[in-house]
Amino acid sequence: MNYKTLWQETLSRLAIFIGKAPILSLFKDSVILESKDNIVTIGVPTSIACQFIRERYEIRLLELFRQALPGTAEIRFEVRGSLLEEDHPHKVDLKLIQGDEDKKLVRKLPNRSEVVMKGGMRSKMFNPRYTLANFIPGQENRLVHAACLAVAAKPSNIYNPLFIYGGVGLGKTHLLQGVGHEILKNYPQKNVVYMTSERFINEVVEAIGKRHTLSFKERYRNVDCLIVDDIQFFGNKSSTQQEFFHTFNELYDAGKQIILSSDRPPKDLDGLEERLKSRFGMGMVVEVIMPEVETRRAILNEKCQEHQVLIEPEILECIAQNVHESVRELEGVLIQIIAEMRLTQTTPTLQSTMQVINRLNRKIIPVGESAKPAVTHTVDDIITAVVAHFKVEKNDLLSTLRKKEIMVPRQICMYLIREILHCSYESIGENFGGKNHTTVLHAYQKIAQYIHQDDAIRRHINTLKRDIGVL
Ligand code: ADP
Ligand code: MG
Repeated sequence: MNYKTLWQETLSRLAIFIGKAPILSLFKDSVILESKDNIVTIGVPTSIACQFIRERYEIRLLELFRQALPGTAEIRFEVRGSLLEEDHPHKVDLKLIQGDEDKKLVRKLPNRSEVVMKGGMRSKMFNPRYTLANFIPGQENRLVHAACLAVAAKPSNIYNPLFIYGGVGLGKTHLLQGVGHEILKNYPQKNVVYMTSERFINEVVEAIGKRHTLSFKERYRNVDCLIVDDIQFFGNKSSTQQEFFHTFNELYDAGKQIILSSDRPPKDLDGLEERLKSRFGMGMVVEVIMPEVETRRAILNEKCQEHQVLIEPEILECIAQNVHESVRELEGVLIQIIAEMRLTQTTPTLQSTMQVINRLNRKIIPVGESAKPAVTHTVDDIITAVVAHFKVEKNDLLSTLRKKEIMVPRQICMYLIREILHCSYESIGENFGGKNHTTVLHAYQKIAQYIHQDDAIRRHINTLKRDIGVL
């Protein structure tokens, strides 16, 4: 498959999850520059688009690439300003990507990416997955959750503006969308607009270009609640700040609710005018923080329910203990594990879980430490994996004991030694209490046949192969 087709198909599948609008805005003029050594390099024309794509869609893109190019380990992004003008041969015609715009005037149905409202105002649709009910506050984020609930119950009452700040992937967007959602539920008449700061910036730039600044202000007249996500990007953009200042004041004076998020508190927003900083700090300023392990466990349980999967508690515990950077990462590991379960028909083990955690963390391992040397396996490795997987005694496995609970693991073990190491039937027999080579051959053939007939056997084999590191 060539790069152009691959990118076109990947974006089409991404559009199913995120809608067409973000594809048109964020991925415009982007290309796959190359795919080599399991690394896909994507060229993006602007750094702001690049940052947004990385933050929001990197894990999903990785999953999608893995479906088309199994083994893909990493995505790299490169900002290439020249893509804006250049007629790059890998460019995709984004118009060909399927969307569902015809339905965009219908407001409260899920899966729309954007909606045009009275006066030409646009709002992103709320992601139905982000509600206040499925945000797990834990001890750590009780305050911010309570503030959101209060605003949703009575907008423009006490907490105005509501300013939520915190690191990447800690739930700001989830909360903002959750409040918007809830306000609409409580007050269906209200005009609730959710936008990213990028959208606001684009609108200002567009309005200035068309000398339409008046109608720009008009458009915000009908808004009852304005939600702007990631306003740290307003820094050093003076015309945007000016417009936002006016819009903010008008809405505020008219008693409308404003909800903002940023990666840092108002006072630390670099390149932002003082008057805006003090306006932002006027209402309620709350921080979201990374939850402790107990809450992380609860979040994983919630996400398992959302995805309708059952995963062993020890696997969830392992994820909760080992992923502490962000909730997005926590969820990313879980989604990856679910995808692998479904694709390879295996059940996750502690080992495969750690592999996923390490793989998704690869970005932060310093260069040069990455690739592990190729592993050579021994008969012992396979025996150890089988013993651990079936929780049997090694001595029993290697004996001539004829109990059903031990015979299947033993036959699987023989099969794997033959498959992976290509040992002779005779030498395999020697490992198992001097069994005759025809017994080993029989075991091998039996398992080879069952793989096609018996789901459970196939799952055991796949899981074991992955644990051993050959899948
Ligand atoms: P941010 O906007 O702060 O970068 P997001 O709101 O996009 O982060 O959150 C990243 C992911 O983590 C989302 O899928 C969100 O649902 C999930 N998430 C974050 N915090 C929680 C939480 N406390 N409970 C449930 N899900 C959460
Ligand atoms: Mg966000």
